[in-house]
Amino acid sequence: MSIDEREHIIISDDLVLVKPLNWTTTAVDCDICGYALRDQSDVACYQKWSCCTDCRDTVVWPNKEKWLEGWRPEKTEEDN
Ligand SMILES: [Zn+2]
Repeated sequence: MSIDEREHIIISDDLVLVKPLNWTTTAVDCDICGYALRDQSDVACYQKWSCCTDCRDTVVWPNKEKWLEGWRPEKTEEDN
């Protein structure tokens, strides 16, 4: 791939993110806990439930009816 086919994203003076132009982002963070998906089962889970397997078990299953109707838990302020 030539340099022309890549897109450069300057993050800071000494950090440049380079990605192919046809690269598409997939959501990699759980919608609920915000943690990155860890493995293939998390990815598969995300595609179905928009969350990781932990949140599926602890949040989605207990609230499955509400979840399917579009309910989502309130975001908590736990950013460190
Ligand atoms: Zn999660």
